[in-house]
Amino acid sequence: MLPPRQRYPPAQALRIVFVIPPAIPVTLSTGSLYTLGTARAFEHAARAGYDGVELLIDDRWDTRQPEYLKRLTDQHAVPILSVHSPFVTISGWPRDEVQRIERTVALAEAVGARTVNVHVPYRFSDLTISGLGKPILFPFLPPPQDHRRYARWLLDGGLDALQARTPVTIAVENLPSRRFLGVRFSRYALNSWEEIALIPSLCLDTTHCGTWDADPTEIFERLGNRVKHVHLSDWSGRYQHQPVGTGLIALDRFLRHLKERNYTGIVVVELTPLSLPVKDENKLARELRRNLEFCRQHLGQNTDSVQASTEVKRQVVGV
Ligand SMILES: [Zn+2]
Repeated sequence: MLPPRQRYPPAQALRIVFVIPPAIPVTLSTGSLYTLGTARAFEHAARAGYDGVELLIDDRWDTRQPEYLKRLTDQHAVPILSVHSPFVTISGWPRDEVQRIERTVALAEAVGARTVNVHVPYRFSDLTISGLGKPILFPFLPPPQDHRRYARWLLDGGLDALQARTPVTIAVENLPSRRFLGVRFSRYALNSWEEIALIPSLCLDTTHCGTWDADPTEIFERLGNRVKHVHLSDWSGRYQHQPVGTGLIALDRFLRHLKERNYTGIVVVELTPLSLPVKDENKLARELRRNLEFCRQHLGQNTDSVQASTEVKRQVVGV
């Protein structure tokens, strides 16, 4: 026998609401706040109204425990839309780059993410020796052995085979330039525009474009529909991953271009906590909100309706 309807409060029945996400979701990289805990990054993403997060896997175990991560998603109504594979060696995971990418893809599947972000391989390692009054950089040392294998894996069918086994898009990211004795060079293999165009799915990082004096709008045009994922931040001429609209890159034009070209990937706001007022909760919330509104405005999205949908999402999960 069914229980009498009046046992359920009427408000409960009104909580089932479908939220249609914007065509181009705007998410916050948890790496933007890596000096805080993972839960705080979810909390700030929710408070500012982002459509989700990109989860950066690092040495902290809470960045790679699917059950805990799903709990954070439920608590904050913030989905993990993409996962960034660790770009340094982390404890408890394989040292081999390809094996780490396989682990990241498995994690992305477990938490329901649609994209995995990986870096191009190292071409050189370097070593900095300090303690002699001034740090001395030795820049052109051989790369880790597994990165030679990784470069071949990217181009010779390994990536294609993994991609064929998963619905998660594996996007390979362009990386920044480095300077030695005033000369710009790449520490990374496959990091020229000609080489990276050999890879079918790419992540275009705007601040990394800036370090090469490259305009991301022009690069997007050049790489065409290979660009499946975007990391968005500004470039000051000296520092990477600066808040949007504070540096040298025409990010407003770039975002408008994404919309005009019917880009359907994610825009991830990927900042450094060194550029954010992380010590003051309210100032931090305002700055994260400003970065989001910049994206919404230039992607032609209505900031008011998105705020409303965030409130609805919180009601649905009862937080
Ligand atoms: Zn990036």
